Amino acid sequence: MKCVVIGGGIVGLATAYRIVQDRPDVEVTVLEKEQSVGLHQTGHNSGVIHAGVYYKPGSLKARMSRDGSRSMVAFCREYGIPVEVCGKLIVATEDGELDRLTALYERSLANGLPVRMLTPGQARELEPHVSCVAAMHVESTGITDYAQVCQALAAQIPNVVLGAKVTGIRQEGAVARVATTLGSFTADVLINCAGLHADRIARLAGVDVPAQIMPFRGEYYELKPDSRHLVKGLIYPVPDPQFPFLGVHLTRMIDGSVHAGPNAVLALRREGYHWNQINLRDLAGTATFPGAWRLARKHWRYGLTEVRRSLSKTLFAASLARLVPELTIDDLMPSEAGVRAQAITPDGALVDDFLIVENGPQVHVLNAPSPAATSSLEIAKHIAAVSLSRK
Ligand SMILES: Cc1cc2nc3c(=O)[nH]c(=O)nc-3n(C[C@H](O)[C@H](O)[C@H](O)COP(=O)(O)OP(=O)(O)OC[C@H]3O[C@@H](n4cnc5c(N)ncnc54)[C@H](O)[C@@H]3O)c2cc1C
Repeated sequence: MKCVVIGGGIVGLATAYRIVQDRPDVEVTVLEKEQSVGLHQTGHNSGVIHAGVYYKPGSLKARMSRDGSRSMVAFCREYGIPVEVCGKLIVATEDGELDRLTALYERSLANGLPVRMLTPGQARELEPHVSCVAAMHVESTGITDYAQVCQALAAQIPNVVLGAKVTGIRQEGAVARVATTLGSFTADVLINCAGLHADRIARLAGVDVPAQIMPFRGEYYELKPDSRHLVKGLIYPVPDPQFPFLGVHLTRMIDGSVHAGPNAVLALRREGYHWNQINLRDLAGTATFPGAWRLARKHWRYGLTEVRRSLSKTLFAASLARLVPELTIDDLMPSEAGVRAQAITPDGALVDDFLIVENGPQVHVLNAPSPAATSSLEIAKHIAAVSLSRK
């Protein structure tokens, strides 16, 4: 039996890896349009192994983040990838955030996580430069390098075809014919993990997609080496629960550098890593999508604040100084941005949970934003089970 996985990001690779491990009778091929794996969302993220604090109890995100954080740490240890379970602080910087911090604490307990509330003094024992009125410590949060995880996964998969951009899909009875820039492939089972292009691939395969991907760029600065001592681990603000974005935070990466960000601005191209990267087809896709306008009407104020902060390093530094007052604009240097694939429904709602749609012998991953890197090995188990159960 032949299985084709579209997309060599962490979700596609983890899925192919799972099938290779569990079903030696299945011939798996991963098709990736770039010349290397993990170059898009997976290679441009914060490197955090999320414990599962933020997600609604009972959701796929909550379960797969909690279980995925364990399986990701175990995978990294097994394959010699640097990993550290360093914990993180979520800090309330004013009294008005206390209710939301308490709600997060209760949600974390409901999700079965090891968390504790801290006084400002206790928080400063962990992060001596932090400022807060209260904090929550999450013990099971970790850090790794997801690009290295992708390389380790790919090394276990016999057929990863690079430079193969999928351009067409025709379902002919039980078999899908997948056209690519490197020729055609047949599949008894087709799995779409194309990240920022997942909705387009699903449409090519004849699926009536319930939500469209909108690309949200997340921009980062990095602390200059002399300023890294201001942050020991991970310091996050209390997020606005209306949005899936966590607010700009400070993240010590596994290589010892400290990243600050990401913000969330609409990208003018699906893989648009800078303001000047524009794609007319992508822009037209957004402009003609009613969900984009409804989302903008609901959240224009939030969007404007994000754009202003994107254009002003001073405002970016001011957001960070709320967490660590000693941080100033002079401590920051630019770093690479990432682009998130976030599915939006036609009525303008941000799809909150992972969205995995089955269509006969096809499975389409239509929403896999953060914490999908953390959860990738669990998402993979789920996809392997649903796609191969009848085979
Ligand atoms: C700024 C940022 C910070 C984040 N921080 C974290 C974090 O700290 N922790 C965490 O758990 N998650 C984080 N995430 C989320 C996480 O990175 C993503 O959820 C995850 O990487 C999604 O993986 P993926 O395989 O679905 O997508 P991708 O990594 O984007 O992979 C999709 C692949 O499909 C390929 N593809 C697309 N179209 C085609 C085609 N037509 N033919 C062939 N190939 C195609 C692409 O080239 C790409 O390689 C973050 C994301 C961003 C952007």
